[in-house]
Amino acid sequence: MKTLYGSIPDEIESLVAGQGLPKYRAVQLLDWIYKKNVLAWDEIRNLPKEMIQKLSGEIRLTALEPGEEKKAVAGGPTKFLFKTADGHFLESVLISRQDSSDDESEEAVVRGGRETVCVSTQLGCKIQCAFCASGQGKFTRNLTAGEIVEQVARIGRVTGKKITNVVFMGMGEPLDNFDATLRAVHILIEPWGFAFGARRVTVSTSGITPKILEFVKAVDGRVRLSVSLHSSIDEVRSSLVPINRRYPLKDLVSALRKINQDLKRDITFEYTLIADLNDSEEEVEGISIIAKPLRAKINVIPYNPIAEFPHKAPTPEAAERFCEQLKRRGLHVTLRQTVGRDIDAACGQLRLDRARRTA
Ligand code: SAH
Repeated sequence: MKTLYGSIPDEIESLVAGQGLPKYRAVQLLDWIYKKNVLAWDEIRNLPKEMIQKLSGEIRLTALEPGEEKKAVAGGPTKFLFKTADGHFLESVLISRQDSSDDESEEAVVRGGRETVCVSTQLGCKIQCAFCASGQGKFTRNLTAGEIVEQVARIGRVTGKKITNVVFMGMGEPLDNFDATLRAVHILIEPWGFAFGARRVTVSTSGITPKILEFVKAVDGRVRLSVSLHSSIDEVRSSLVPINRRYPLKDLVSALRKINQDLKRDITFEYTLIADLNDSEEEVEGISIIAKPLRAKINVIPYNPIAEFPHKAPTPEAAERFCEQLKRRGLHVTLRQTVGRDIDAACGQLRLDRARRTA
């Protein structure tokens, strides 16, 4: 059965029309789910009981069931566990930031701080980046658009907080689940949907080059694009992000040039910094050659060690030094200081089997 979460106006209008109901009922339904984030039929108050009864025989309201909330570190991100209708578990993360000092974009400055939800897009991940927990288990399936956006609605409801930003940085590769990701993005940014400012929504990708171009065109460049770079040297990048063998740096960078120059869109790079692996002078030089012409911002994330990838996190001093070297070359760099406490690092820690164990 379909779900209201994940539906777009056309679909809700035909559902309502199919029940012989006037069109304004569709507008009300959209408002209840995407603006008021109701999670049960009986929370909907301005529709006749009989109408609710008919609708609930036709379509489910939600795609997920509540899971538990668990705070990893005091003051750090909160992880949420959800269960899908077919019995799988997925995790999302909420990170609260008091100030926006590390982000100079005007849109990022919100009175009272930022509340960012990091959503998962797949159960497991096929990309299998060497250092990422999400690719270690088996790939189960894509999430639906309803399952993606409902993570945002549920976290807002459970915490009572006003969610200000959404990042597609949880489990999965968003562009490997293209249609659902695109639909979820629309639901998040359209006025009839959650109505987030488009610059408050970020989609992060491991670099499926042809899909990046397609995606940027499909959203008309409105949402932010983040690319997981992790190395400027093909051999090293291929060992970390296997998809680099198929879409090597040259292709990736030329696609990003197009996006930056022809479509005039900003790009951010994520760079997971691993001791003695991708922290060399050569990388600093290589990153600068790639990022400078793009005027791309770089988020350096100290590696958060996982058992399957026995390498070390850089020391805080080494991470600082690496960033300084990049800055000296005129790049805009942000160091995600506290490993495991920041959204990017926390997002990389989502894994399917662990979600199962905690359930
Ligand atoms: N598949 C997409 C979305 C996932 S985002 C992508 O690759 O961009 C995952 C981000 O979490 C990556 O940019 C990576 O930098 C970060 N990450 C994953 N595992 C990590 C780890 N063990 N330590 C630090 N960061 C990690």
